Formats: sequence, C-alpha cells, structure tokens
Amino acid sequence: MVSCGGGIVEKLKERNMDRTLMSGVDAFCALGDEPPALRRGVDLWTEGRVLAGVGRVPDAFEADHVISGSRLLALPALHNAHAHAAMTLVRGFAEDLPFSRWLNERVWVAEKALQEEDVRWGAALAACEMIRSGTVGMADHYFWMEQTARVVQDSGMKALLAWCHFGRGDDQEVGGATLQTKVDAARRWHGAADGRIRAALGPHSPYMCPPEVLSEMGAAARELGVALHLHLSESSEQVARSRARYGKTPVEELADLGLLDQPILCAHCIAVSPEEMAALARPQVFVAHTPKTYLKLAMEMAPLEEQLAAGMQVALGTDGPASGADLNLLEVLRLTGLVHKGRAGRAEVLPVATLLHMACRTGARALGFEDSGVLRPGAAADIMLLDRSGPHWAPDLDPLAGAVYASHPSDVRHVMCDGRLLLDNGQLTTLDEEWIIAEASRRARRITGAAGGEAMRRYQG
Ligand SMILES: [Zn+2]
Repeated sequence: MVSCGGGIVEKLKERNMDRTLMSGVDAFCALGDEPPALRRGVDLWTEGRVLAGVGRVPDAFEADHVISGSRLLALPALHNAHAHAAMTLVRGFAEDLPFSRWLNERVWVAEKALQEEDVRWGAALAACEMIRSGTVGMADHYFWMEQTARVVQDSGMKALLAWCHFGRGDDQEVGGATLQTKVDAARRWHGAADGRIRAALGPHSPYMCPPEVLSEMGAAARELGVALHLHLSESSEQVARSRARYGKTPVEELADLGLLDQPILCAHCIAVSPEEMAALARPQVFVAHTPKTYLKLAMEMAPLEEQLAAGMQVALGTDGPASGADLNLLEVLRLTGLVHKGRAGRAEVLPVATLLHMACRTGARALGFEDSGVLRPGAAADIMLLDRSGPHWAPDLDPLAGAVYASHPSDVRHVMCDGRLLLDNGQLTTLDEEWIIAEASRRARRITGAAGGEAMRRYQG
C-alpha cells in the first residue's frame, strides 16, 4: 500500500504489474543502435521495470496486464527538464507582469506565506497534471525538497530534485533552511525510491548567489556525486550587470569556477554568445529550454537552433506554473517547433524527430536517467500511449507530427514509469486527484490571500 505522510496518496488497486503487453500498437521505437523510427502494428512487452521487447511477442510470454488497440501510439514518456512543481499553488497569481515585477511583487512575496507542507500538496497537484500529459520525469527546483521527494516516491514518477539556495543569508532563505540542511537532504534522497529519485544541489543563479557560494555548492556537489541545477543567463540585462559586477558574463563566471567541468543542468541560457555556446557544449552540461515562460513574460528568446548546431545538449521544460501556467510538456514540444520555425523563417528547422529527442532522450539524460527516454529493448519501461481516435488526428497520415502538433493531453490514455502504470485508461493509479485538487486549492487561497508587503529578496537583473 502506498502512503504519503498525511496520506495524500491512495493506491486504487493492488495489481501485479510485473509483465505488461502492449499489443498491436504503433510505436516510435528503436532496435539495436538505430535511431528511433515509427513502427506500425507492433507489440511492446515489459518485464519488471524494463522494456523487454519490441516486435512480435513470444508465445510463451504471460502478461499480467494487456493493453491493445490499433489507435494507440506508443512514445517514450516525457521528461520535464526544468520545473518548480509546487508553484501550482500560485498559478494565476502573477499575470501580465514583466519579469522583474513578476518576481519582486508577486512570486517572492507569496513565498513568505509558504509553509513546508504546502510544497507537498502543490507538488502532488503538479504530479497529477504531469502524468496526465505524458510526463514521468521532472527536474524540480524549489524549497523543502523532501516534501517533493515524498510525492515522487509515492506517485511512481522519477525526478532530479534540487532544493533552491540563494546564499545571501539564512534570513533570505525560504523557511530559513541552511545550505547544510539542503546538502544533508540531497545525501539522504539521492538514489531513493529504487533509484527513481536523484538529488541535485540548487544554487538559484549567478545573479543571486555570490561566487563563493557557487563555488562551495560546486564542491559539495562533487563530494556527493550529484549534479548542480541553476538558472543561467536569462536576459541581456543580467549579462550586462554581471560584466559590471564581476568583469565577466554568468557563463564565464561558471567556467572560471570550474562548474562547467562537473554535471550541471542550466535552465534558460537565453543571452549567450557563440563563444559561450561552445563552452556549454560539453557532455556533462545540459540546458533546459522553456519557451512558454519566455513568451509569456515577454523575455528574449534563447537561440535554440544555434545552440543545437553548436552541439549543446538542450532539453525541454515547462518552468513553474507561476510563469507558464501549466505543466503540459506536449504544449512545450509544440511551442518549441512553432517559435523556432518562425524565428528562423524556415519551416525545415527543428523537425518532429528532433523535438521528440529533446523532450524524451535528452530530457531523461539531463535528469540523470541514462536508460530512459527511448523505446528500446533493455531500456527503462517509461512509456506513454496516446489514443488517436479523436477528429484532430484524422486521417492520421503522420502520427508523430500529430503527437507534436495536434495532440491534446486528454489523448494520453496510459503512462508507465519503470514498468508500472501511473495512468491506466485515463485513471491515475497512485494519486487521489480529487482530494489533492481540493487541498491544494485551499492552501493556494491561504498563500495568495496572505501575500503582501515586501519580497523576501530583491531582483535587480
Ligand atoms: Zn526556473
């Protein structure tokens, strides 16, 4: 029986999910070392947490659970490379404001009213939404990381969890949490939930964290064997201020501190020069691209096409619901294609397979799950199944383009993580959604109703 502290999570049914057969579906899958391709009318079968095979299921295979249907499209489940999951609690609270006012007048004001248990309910609400839109993994960056860890553990998802640290004095940290508290939590949770939880250390950004704090957190991450996850170069203004303050850009600062020589996930990288793109193109550096936030807050747009051409490993993220409103990575896939085709003035940039690769394979690797993000025998059984019965799919000439440009989250019928169905025929199996919506909404009203006065800290670019 799954439990979650006060009991957010309720497992609806106890079932043996050791062996699942997905019969006669279309699948975007890979055999051997080939890149993934669409294969029609194949079987996929799982054993334990692994995708055991793709093709024609052996007669001897005895399934505990069978999913079948020629209208189903199997894709690797999605990995969200940058989120602030519990910010579902302030969804709709900071609308139509530029970035500096959005932080100073809303987001960092609401944080004053945030309590530890709020994070659990906000993250649980996020988990419902993510699973329903085909996402099994998230790189989360927020406060009281252990609350989110419990939700990940009990929901069956995967995550890279970073407890945000500003490094400007404990009075400016949410809940007064010290760096040592955050390091200890990372040590406790890294590898938990059968390896579904990975920890990272989460300096907020070079514009908030003094260099000595970045350096200290880098050393602590190396000692723990975990990644860093931070915000980087979100605007030209930040770059100019960094030059004025330190004589170098934020990317140059990280490079000089040695932080690009260790595993690091950098959100945004919007204002980066060609030289900086070259410096970021290294195997241990991942970048999260979250275009919905850039559009909604009227920020600059990261030069994604140039970044990919430079060899940078760019994954996709939703960012938090305070900026992006929702956690639907299917929409981010679509927006990424639309924005960058428009930006380039060339329809051929960012083809569907590239977009899927970013949201699935690069996303999984950015979170540290090397065996996920691809439907290949022997990989983790992290799978989403889309139902293509709706009129927006017909005549279904190109199912992959349909998935990227025409699908709705309500088309997601089944979602599996490590061989376990978290969404089964449209029903969440691990989360009590009605209860979570009610409790999270109640807490959100308290937080946003109480919010007022000065922010806990000040953004100046
Ligand atoms: Zn962020």
